[in-house]
Amino acid sequence: MERPRFLADEMLGTLARWLRMMGYDTEYARDLLDNEVLELARAGGRIVLTRDRQLAGRAGNGGLFITSDVLDEQLEQVVSFFGLSGGAPLTRCTVCNAELERAGREAMAGRVPDRVLSAHHEFFVCPRCGQVYWKGTHWTSIVQRMDRLRSQSR
Ligand SMILES: [Zn+2]
Repeated sequence: MERPRFLADEMLGTLARWLRMMGYDTEYARDLLDNEVLELARAGGRIVLTRDRQLAGRAGNGGLFITSDVLDEQLEQVVSFFGLSGGAPLTRCTVCNAELERAGREAMAGRVPDRVLSAHHEFFVCPRCGQVYWKGTHWTSIVQRMDRLRSQSR
């Protein structure tokens, strides 16, 4: 399966953010009834990721029951189940899931701290919520975590 799209349930907000960081299209279902979650997933061609065994059962092939409460184990389960590659970090907003757009340094003056502005050339901006990203410490921790996941799943 190439680049699956996901719908994470209410208990999996952190997992959803990490999948977005890896570049996977992941919606987050907040305040939805099970029926609405299933409908949303079906309509969007998304796989339901859930800590609710019953909901996962109802989703059938379109769902995955996440067995752990620990983020690393959740990520590992999703990565190995779907055979995900490292993905494409910094392509999706971790806050709202929109696709990021590249922006040059000149456009970022006043929007990021000066020390960040002088240390980085390339920025990524969310067209929907305005969140700004760059390859800083955040980036390093994503890459490290993905390397660790890849070596575990080998
Ligand atoms: Zn956003």
